[in-house]
Amino acid sequence: MKDILLTGDRPTGPLHLGHYVGSLKNRVALQNTGKYEQYVMIADIQALTDNANDPQKIRNNLLEVTLDYLAAGLQPDKTTMFIQSHIPALFELPMFYANLVTMSRLERNPTVKNEIKLRGFERNLPVGFMTYPISQAADITAFKAKYVPVGDDQLPMLEQAREIVSAFNRTYNCDVLVEPQAILPENSECSRLVGTDGNAKMSKSLGNCIYLRDDEKTVKQKIMSMYTDPEHINVSDPGHTEGNTVFAYLDAFSTPESFSAYTTEYANLEEMKEHYRRGGLGDMKCKKLLNSIMQDILRPIRERREEYAKDKGYLLDMLAQGVDKANERATQTLDEVRAAIGVDYLKNRDFFLK
Ligand code: ATP
Ligand code: MG
Repeated sequence: MKDILLTGDRPTGPLHLGHYVGSLKNRVALQNTGKYEQYVMIADIQALTDNANDPQKIRNNLLEVTLDYLAAGLQPDKTTMFIQSHIPALFELPMFYANLVTMSRLERNPTVKNEIKLRGFERNLPVGFMTYPISQAADITAFKAKYVPVGDDQLPMLEQAREIVSAFNRTYNCDVLVEPQAILPENSECSRLVGTDGNAKMSKSLGNCIYLRDDEKTVKQKIMSMYTDPEHINVSDPGHTEGNTVFAYLDAFSTPESFSAYTTEYANLEEMKEHYRRGGLGDMKCKKLLNSIMQDILRPIRERREEYAKDKGYLLDMLAQGVDKANERATQTLDEVRAAIGVDYLKNRDFFLK
């Protein structure tokens, strides 16, 4: 049997460059190896945990995210794309898992802590939001996923999922659930891509994104207004490349070929960084190079997106097929979970009749 991969995205907006380098690019590469059975989930229920008053936003973004998947290169014959809310097993499993997790363990999760602060939830924290790591553990384990290609904000979620798996298998003396591992992208800039404003993470909720669907002009505008080094005022000033958004993006997106294609001055990024640090290299020149690189990456994605957007019926049919396949797999795990706990009374009549 092939190893299983599962990841998901909240349909709180279209997907951005952080999703692309943090996870989507890896999903496409892993899909194309043919070695895995891959599931990709639109996490609408998780999106509701902090958007319960605005379901319209989630509805509006369902096909946006679907289009981003196809545009980035996911293919329905190789990757099962489905909608979380349409898989009932994903709501039953968390009820069983929740009893194996303590409140204090949930409160220690650094990603959740940070997200609570960001959303100003200190006083009005929805129970659903606080417990979403349990629901996420259900998403992963329902598919018995061994690998989860994600950005590093997801590491605490995977740790939590592994704890649930081991608590479950230990408590019910079984080996039904599989411990998942993260597959992180190639470098730390990709694991957590900074926002265009220099903020620690590009995130739909922070409005500091370059979206995969942005047109050429918008991408250029966003790059030209990127946060750089506030101490690098004149071209001749020495500059910092650490904490400089433009260089973070060059780390994430440039390749040695980018330098041979667009500059004659530098053989690679390191040489360009040295020049910036020495002084004499202006922000505008760096931004222009980044823009050329980004446009090359985004152009084919945008063109594919426009093609797929012409047939919304196809997208819905594809999701319906994905839902059917995902339901089969998740229901099977749920049956095993119920049997392991012993709440399969009516399927296991022998126990009562013996
Ligand atoms: P929201 O603000 O609604 O939480 P988000 O932008 O954080 O949205 P998610 O849907 O939560 O996006 O994340 C989906 C996937 O993309 C996860 O695997 C996450 O690790 C990855 N990801 C999101 N943002 C980034 C980023 N800036 N850098 C790297 N990976 C990212
Ligand atoms: Mg997020």
